[in-house]
Amino acid sequence: RKIVIAIDGYSACGKSTTAKEVAKILGYKYIDSGAMYRAVTYYFLEHYVSLSNPKEIEAALNKIKITFHVNDDMETETFLDGLKIEKEIRKMRISDNVSQVSAIKPVRLAMVKQQRQLGREKGVVMDGRDIGTVVFPDAELKVFMTADMQVRAFRRQQELLQSDKMVDLVEVMENIHMRDQIDTTRVESPLRKAEGAIEINTTHITIDEQVDAVVQLAIN
Ligand code: C5P
Repeated sequence: RKIVIAIDGYSACGKSTTAKEVAKILGYKYIDSGAMYRAVTYYFLEHYVSLSNPKEIEAALNKIKITFHVNDDMETETFLDGLKIEKEIRKMRISDNVSQVSAIKPVRLAMVKQQRQLGREKGVVMDGRDIGTVVFPDAELKVFMTADMQVRAFRRQQELLQSDKMVDLVEVMENIHMRDQIDTTRVESPLRKAEGAIEINTTHITIDEQVDAVVQLAIN
């Protein structure tokens, strides 16, 4: 029996790393909801959309088409209007602006609608900030991931370095802290542990252990 797995939590706690691997093991579809907010942010920055102009925001949201494509290496890549933007949306320029864009109500409404559409068939793992609380409140399995700030910043820095993005540890830490702040205090669906969610603190465990923990919860 296939289910819906919702994984939420703070920035850089290992949500997408875990979600991707769990999806692979269970033969489920993986959907990175954060990539969608990053794609919107990329568009807004490229087209100088003013975050205080509802008309411009609405027009942009009506125009944008976000799609995912699984490449030959089985990695999911994000496309905006048919253009691959996977690399672009992982840069600090996007990380520095994405939480402000994600706090805008019409942006969230548009993304949630698409996310529900993408997850309409069971057998899906979706990670984000509001998946268990808003997108799929009826998900059979809800996970809430946490980790200590130092560990989160270090891991994210390593991840960025692996894709040749030089970035200072303090800068990464400041970004994570800022995003946590905005994500937990915004009016529109703030980041919360969903009712019934199982908390996994990844500070002292390996990726394999966190993946296994979720897989066990899913199959039992
Ligand atoms: O998951 P990721 O860190 O790539 O998400 C980037 C940002 O997008 C988050 O910091 C948050 O502001 C926003 N986001 C959100 N709701 C989601 C997923 C991401 O608000 N479901």
